[in-house]
Amino acid sequence: MPGGPLNIPRRKSQMLRFIVVGGSIAGVSCAYALQEAGHQVMVLEQSDGRQKSHGGIRSPPNMTRLLDQWGLGPAVARVSIKANRFTFLDGKSGQDLGLLVLHDKLMNALSADFLYIQHGGLHAMFVEFAKNAGVQFRYNTEVVSVDPWAGVVTTRKGAKLTADVIVGADGYNSIVRPVVVGPEGLKGISDKRISVNITVPTDLMRQHQDLVPLTVSPEWSLWLGDDCATHGLLTVNPQTLQKEYSVVMHVPSEGKSAQESWTRAQPLDEKFLKLDRFEPRVQKLVRLAKSMTPTGYTVHSPFDNWVHESGKVVLVGEAAHPLMPNGSHNAAMSIEDAMTLSTLFSLPAAKSHTPLLLSAYEELRQPRCAATQASELRKRDFVCLPRGPEQQARDGGLRAASKRALLDWDEAKEEYLRETWEEYIDLFAFDAREAVEDWWTKWGSAILRSRMTDPRIESAARKFEPPRMVVDVLREGGR
Ligand SMILES: Cc1cc2nc3c(=O)[nH]c(=O)nc-3n(C[C@H](O)[C@H](O)[C@H](O)COP(=O)(O)OP(=O)(O)OC[C@H]3O[C@@H](n4cnc5c(N)ncnc54)[C@H](O)[C@@H]3O)c2cc1C
Repeated sequence: MPGGPLNIPRRKSQMLRFIVVGGSIAGVSCAYALQEAGHQVMVLEQSDGRQKSHGGIRSPPNMTRLLDQWGLGPAVARVSIKANRFTFLDGKSGQDLGLLVLHDKLMNALSADFLYIQHGGLHAMFVEFAKNAGVQFRYNTEVVSVDPWAGVVTTRKGAKLTADVIVGADGYNSIVRPVVVGPEGLKGISDKRISVNITVPTDLMRQHQDLVPLTVSPEWSLWLGDDCATHGLLTVNPQTLQKEYSVVMHVPSEGKSAQESWTRAQPLDEKFLKLDRFEPRVQKLVRLAKSMTPTGYTVHSPFDNWVHESGKVVLVGEAAHPLMPNGSHNAAMSIEDAMTLSTLFSLPAAKSHTPLLLSAYEELRQPRCAATQASELRKRDFVCLPRGPEQQARDGGLRAASKRALLDWDEAKEEYLRETWEEYIDLFAFDAREAVEDWWTKWGSAILRSRMTDPRIESAARKFEPPRMVVDVLREGGR
């Protein structure tokens, strides 16, 4: 596999057959990495694979570091934009409220960038790399049922396909999830907000003087409205290499429902978008777009199981941990899943260890994804606060932090850095591959000694906790 050296031995034999249900970011990244780890992978995707979303994916360092390790860095660099800061603005007046600067020192210590990339561009890149690695793709192939004990999937056209491991990467409305999780996998509460994707060509924006700065600045701008928020960033269209402005609006659902789908574009609806709650610049920006794509969301409690007791079916991506749409970590968590699973399945374990490796995957991923699910919703609600005392306290806090944010990393007070960065650094500094290495250091020799799945090892693996990283470690590293 491309990328830096791995401090664990690599599998030489024991090739497994994987079927991946769903060919979006989680499915294709898993397929690519598992094929590179020496397995035979087939992706079954219900669509024709031609849908190219222009929506912007925020790609934090914990994600871009893994893309670099896979050797995808140069391909990503061609179609991405490097973020320099997050700017918080009052939605109605457009006045600056606060700033979060991605200081060079911090980013150097993290040894990865925070990038913006279009969903379609990232997806196309993974498909190309996966095809070159030998992954087989079957499009227009909808999976309608899974037999977890036999390791068989059945397609709408009646084909039955067998694998050693079935990977459910089929998103919010996963058909594989209830097989693994049970009826709980279908339960949830409709989110109180709907997330809307809007793409604006920058050549139209350049015709308006007040929109020009947005066409050049690599900042992520967030307009904090009354019970709603809009945010936007620059992306590169991978086909034309033209810049586009990717807007997301979080609006109250007010009893309306929106499907958990990414493909239902419709004409702009200003009333629904609460456009009058935003400054004239945002109104002008959004009106330049022809259409909008709303995505609903069902909030689930984290699922107890991601692996079926047969040891033959596993969940990844939104099927395993449905995150709020258009957050900062949807693609990142999927790619961490792919790195974790593929690194585990590159270990020199026997085929009989498959259930153990799957349960290690579940253990390594569940706490991190549950924490991210919660923090993403919290952050979204923070930027969408309705007018009132809480919103005023938030704005006061952002204004107070703003001046300190502009100070150099070394000059900033420890207290400010800790308050502001601790949660981000826990997210950004995590290295999914290192977490597997740590797990292997702890349990590898016991696994190599055992010829069969050993329940003692399995129970030990269940007690494993991934390491947590804190701001102090990073500050030390950055000096
Ligand atoms: C077309 C599309 C456009 C998107 N655009 C954006 C965007 O602009 N911004 C953003 O932040 N996120 C976008 N997303 C969501 C984003 O991909 C996810 O949030 C996350 O990055 C990875 O999720 P995933 O691969 O687990 O699930 P998803 O991306 O939801 O993909 C699930 C895949 O499984 C397929 N599938 C579902 N059921 C079956 C079945 N029974 N048989 C076979 N295949 C099945 C679906 O067609 C889909 O390709 C988009 C997703 C899709 C599918």
